[in-house]
Amino acid sequence: MHTKTLTELSLGLRSGAFSSVELTQTFLQRISQHQDLNAYITVTEELALQQALAADVRLANGTADCLTGIPIAQKDIFCTLDVKTTCGSKMLDNFIAPYNATVVEKLNQSGAVMLGKLNMDEFAMGSSNETSYYGAVKNPWNITTVPGGSSGGSAAAVAARLAVCATGTDTGGSIRQPAALCGITGLKPTYGRVSRYGMIAYASSLDQGGPMTRSAEDAAIVLQTMAGFDAKDSTSVDLPVPNYSAELNNSLAGLKIGLPKEFFSDGLNSDVAAVLATAIDEYRKLGAEIIDISMPNLKLAIPAYYVIAPAECSANLSRFDGVRYGYRCENPKDLTDLYTRSRGEGFGKEVKRRILMGTYALSTGYYDAYYLKAQKIRRLISDDFKNALAKVDVIMGPVTPTTAFGIGEKMDDPIEMYLSDIYTIAINLAGVPAMSIPAGFVAGMPVGLQLIGSYFAEDRLLNIAHQYQQVTDWHQQTPNGFE
Ligand code: GLN
Repeated sequence: MHTKTLTELSLGLRSGAFSSVELTQTFLQRISQHQDLNAYITVTEELALQQALAADVRLANGTADCLTGIPIAQKDIFCTLDVKTTCGSKMLDNFIAPYNATVVEKLNQSGAVMLGKLNMDEFAMGSSNETSYYGAVKNPWNITTVPGGSSGGSAAAVAARLAVCATGTDTGGSIRQPAALCGITGLKPTYGRVSRYGMIAYASSLDQGGPMTRSAEDAAIVLQTMAGFDAKDSTSVDLPVPNYSAELNNSLAGLKIGLPKEFFSDGLNSDVAAVLATAIDEYRKLGAEIIDISMPNLKLAIPAYYVIAPAECSANLSRFDGVRYGYRCENPKDLTDLYTRSRGEGFGKEVKRRILMGTYALSTGYYDAYYLKAQKIRRLISDDFKNALAKVDVIMGPVTPTTAFGIGEKMDDPIEMYLSDIYTIAINLAGVPAMSIPAGFVAGMPVGLQLIGSYFAEDRLLNIAHQYQQVTDWHQQTPNGFE
């Protein structure tokens, strides 16, 4: 059962070929067999079986929708009522949210079954899932390599068939980069498309939740439930949600694909580049026209992001003070000792580095030089996307410069680690939607192709991804030992 796609499982459940309880048990068993991947922080076995029983009732009485009875898992950044939400941090190791995030609420209402909460980089800061308080997640394609981050638990779980699909969040690449490194399909929606209510904030102007699935067809179903206006999120956009599955089969004849020369320069591994060239040829065969473009400000994305994201995180993470909730140090001497030791002991090294960088960039005297300057660059980068997307329907490029790197390889060199997001970060600064889809392998390790579209054109992106997945089978490959 675990080898089937969401679409196939949904049909199987509705035809009565198997029940949600049977399906849920299968996945729970797989999770316990493959604990060595460290993909889950919390497994909610009892809750999952209760939800599966309720789903079976809906399936029997005709009130089921596409996700009813499907075993899914949530990145541990989404608050879940009565279930621990850690955000990968010691700071929240004891935190049980008193409410559900909107995304969790919507998926619950659809009848999806939650298997548990997925491992992630601490507060979503990282590109390798090695900054988690709960330890590194392993890439199921080669367990000595990283799955990518920060949604590494989500990507590993979907790739290893430990969940049918998962949620992820993407501030600078955290859905697309792990999707690429683990050979799955990941979609970062337009900023404002999916509610951030109850999604623990990292950098609020960049954070966006989205689906991580095996195929574009599956992503369309999950996004349908996740997306939509939410009055509880002030940046949620009140626009109708299209029917994402309805557009999947549109022809790509005449599609204009832009290839920015900045995406295909020296930093890109030549084997990865060769895989991408083959994928782009496939699009040519599907009737697309390839157009060379230039986006001159892309090179400024990493420096601008590493001012803006830490600045926002330094403000967002000030709430973790040892007073309200989360970790509190033992026997504080006084209030200052309580603050400093609770934060000093509760946060990991990378989180502290970001808070220090952000506080510095926002301080008097440096604000204009760093933060304001970065905001101006952000505008230039958005304009690059607007100009390019006025000429082409979609921009394509790499997701990552290389395939998955070794565990431990980049942990001592933050700059090297930050560079692994060089192709994903600009998209968040602009706020446009983007996907990673499996496009082939280099020495047995998956490579992702990135598709970047216009604001709120998720339907078009899903269509472009789905058409490719109709003529290729990269997205159907399973890592050895997880068949
Ligand atoms: N790797 C980037 C960072 O550490 C992006 C992370 C993310 O998208 N959450 O900030």
